[in-house]
This record gives sequence, structure tokens and C-alpha cells, in this order.
Amino acid sequence: MDLFEKRVALRWRRTKIVATLGPASSDPKMITNLLRGGVDVVRLNMSHGTHEAHREVYGRVRAAAKKLGRHIAIFADLCGPKIRCGKFPEGPLTLVPGEEVVIDPRVDKGGPGLIASQYRAIARDVQPGHRILLDDGNLELKALAVEGERVRCKVIYGGLLKDHKGINLPDSKVSASSLPPKDVADARFAIGLGVDYLALSFVRTAKDVAGLRRLIARTGAATPIIAKIETPEAMQNIEAIVEASDAIMVARGDLGIEMPAEQVPLIQRELINLARRRNRAVIVATQMLESMIDHSRPTRAEVGDVANAALTSADAVMLSAETASGKYPLRAVEIMDKVLREVEGYQWKQGGFLAVDAAAHAEMSQRDGVANAAATLAHDLKLQGIIIPTMSGTTARVISSNRPTAPLVAVSTDEAVCRRLGLNWGIVPMTATDSEYGDWERLCRRIARSCELTRTGHSVLLVAGFSDDAAQNSPMLRILRV
Ligand code: PEP
Repeated sequence: MDLFEKRVALRWRRTKIVATLGPASSDPKMITNLLRGGVDVVRLNMSHGTHEAHREVYGRVRAAAKKLGRHIAIFADLCGPKIRCGKFPEGPLTLVPGEEVVIDPRVDKGGPGLIASQYRAIARDVQPGHRILLDDGNLELKALAVEGERVRCKVIYGGLLKDHKGINLPDSKVSASSLPPKDVADARFAIGLGVDYLALSFVRTAKDVAGLRRLIARTGAATPIIAKIETPEAMQNIEAIVEASDAIMVARGDLGIEMPAEQVPLIQRELINLARRRNRAVIVATQMLESMIDHSRPTRAEVGDVANAALTSADAVMLSAETASGKYPLRAVEIMDKVLREVEGYQWKQGGFLAVDAAAHAEMSQRDGVANAAATLAHDLKLQGIIIPTMSGTTARVISSNRPTAPLVAVSTDEAVCRRLGLNWGIVPMTATDSEYGDWERLCRRIARSCELTRTGHSVLLVAGFSDDAAQNSPMLRILRV
């Protein structure tokens, strides 16, 4: 392919960028800059901030996206049954290895030898010998005895414990409700705002996803769900969870506490492959450019981490504190964008992106077979692009999962569908009017012209007609000279 084609084909970055907004990135100018810098999806983290603050940021993102003519997805990330310790009114507690400390859910203030926890059932879930990890796993206790509602522990790895730090129970079967009252209130609030996805934390089984789905349905909405994979129990039930969800997140922060950290890179790879085989989007999250919270340059290892996520074909990579509270939110996005483009340019030169492993499909569905064929056709015939008229977004998601080499333009009459597709690998979402949508060939020619996919003698591929309901599935492929 010549330089012109390379310029057109690589104009759109395939791996999407998710940015968490927070105090460092909430003012309208910064939001506009972040979207200009390459953010495709915005995350509102319900663990921090008031509803009023989230409402304001939500409105600013929508306004900035409109001004820039972009389809930006916004998701609200629910806290889930995250267990936290209480306050230490006399200052942080020093935990000394070998000493004993008691966790007591009946109090809300801790002090020497005492940690308060708001989680009432801690003594029911923890058994002697279980590990209790504090502050993102930096401190470790071992349960010695359960005494009524309290747990007596020995400090294994010590240090300073501050107010409200997280508690992880990697050896225990946590019985906390998957949708605590705060999540129910936050979910209703976020649905009312009109978010494009809800992310559910600490998913353990497909039933947790179904519970949120019921709540969403009761409000009359159909907001898609991102299941955050961050516990060993989720890994045991992973096939059913992926099936029950619309997308997944490899939430490496808690996953790396709950499971041996050395297993996380391989779990990440497995989850990306599994999500792609099920036509679900997959986000790789947490600590991607962590050092940029304080520094203007990432470490070489962080650059390698972002590159690896793209090489192994994640749909999206996520920034958390880097953009929410770091010193260099815009630079973090710009660097992520550059790293991803470098990797994708290399892959493109090598002949394409990582194809789905067809052998891994026990039995290939008709639509997966057609999507595979579309990717092969577009590659072998050097088609300029794949244009996908899509009502619900399903056809676009299935095509995206195959990671074709040609640019993917999804066209829908529904703005919400366009915004949601902002999360999926490679998809450039565009809107069409109802009357345009009635004539796909004309619509495709118009899109091809507006995207410069129209060199004389070249063609694009029109793909449509996939459905989640196998009986409704009537895939079609057409090669259109443009
Ligand atoms: C994570 O644990 O990696 C994660 C994304 O979840 P949160 O930041 O909400 O703890």
C-alpha cells in the first residue's frame, strides 16, 4: 500500500483510550483537551465524588463531545462490595510485624491494636489462617481467631494504615451483597444521567451481573454492563460472567491483590482472547502509566505494558489516577496515544492485527464465520474500509472482534449506539439520518467519500445483518466500488 493509503488507514487509532475524570481533569477546558488528545471513553468513578459533581462533569463531557463532533462513551463505575477500614482519629495506625491487632465491625473508629471495619460479616467470612490484606495489599495480616463479630490477627507485613483504606480477603468467600445500597443509589443516579455503560465491581458470578441487569430493567433503561474481573471467584465463573455481560474490564488493581501478581499478565491475555471470542469489548485497566501521577514521563516498563495490551489486542486501555488526580493528565493521554499508534503502525506494516484464533471456537457461529470472511476479504482485496450499517451495534461489535486490517466505520441512526461503539476496537462511529439509512449503498458511498476511502478503482466492503438472536441472523457482504 502506498503512503496515501497508509495515512488514511492509520488515521484512526484502533485501541481505544479510557480516561477516569477527577479533580485534575474536571474543568471544561481540560475535558476538551483530553478528548482532543485522544480519549474515546470517559469513566466516572463512583468511589469518589458527589452525585452533583458527577452530574456536572457528565454535562461538560457531553458538551465538549458535541462541540468536537465526537461520539464519546461515558461509564459510571460502581464501587461494589469493597470493604474498607474505618477512621483513625488519632492519626494513622502503625502495624508492627509479629504484633496482634483486632478487626471490629461494631466500631467506626480505630486506634492502637484496633481496626474498625464497616463490613459486618467479616467474622463470618474469615477463618483462622486466612490472609487479610490492607491498603492495596501493602500491609498483610493473618487471622488467628474469630471472636464473636471480631477477628484477632497477627501482622505479617507492617507499615502505616490510614483512614478508609481498602481491605481484601483473598482466601475468604465474601458473602457481602454484590449490589450494596450505595451501588443501587449510584446506578439509579447514573442511569438517570444517561450514561452509556455501568461497570460492576467485584463481580463473583453471572448472577451478580443479572442482579444489576434487573435493576437497570426496572428503571426502563437498557444500559449495557461492563463486568470488572478482579477476584479469584470471578475467574472460576469466567465463561458465564462474560456471557452475561456486554463488556469486561481486567481490573488489575484488585486482581493483583486477590490473586498472585505473577498470574495477572497471563490472566489478562486469557481474558482478552475469551472476550474477543464472545464478541465482547475488553478494557485493560490500572497502573498503565502509574508513575505519570507525579512525573512527566512514564517508565519504560509502563510503555511496555501499554504496548503489550495493544499487541495482544485489547479493545481499550484505561487511565485511572493518571488522569483523575495526577499532575499530567493530558500528557498521559498523549503518551498513551503515541505508544498505541506506534504499535499499530508496526502491526499494520507486518500485514495486520492479531486475528482471532479460529481454532479456539469450539463451533463457529454463522456470523463469526462471515465476520472472519469479511476480514480476510478486506485484507486480500486491499479494500479501503469496512462500512457497517448497524441498528443495535451488534454487527459492528462482531466485525471488530476479528480485528480486520481495513478501517471500520459503523453507521447508526441512534446516537447512543454510536457512543457505545466508541469502546470497541477500531470502530469509527458515525450517525446517519433515517432516510439515508434506507439506502445502504448510497449511505456507504457518502461515508466512503467523507472518510477519504474513495481512491479511483478501489472498493469498500459493506457488511450488515448480524443479530444476537441466531434466528434473526441474515448476514450480508457486498463489495462496493467507490
Ligand atoms: C482495579 O481494581 O483495577 C479497578 C479498576 O477498580 P477500582 O479502581 O475501582 O478499584
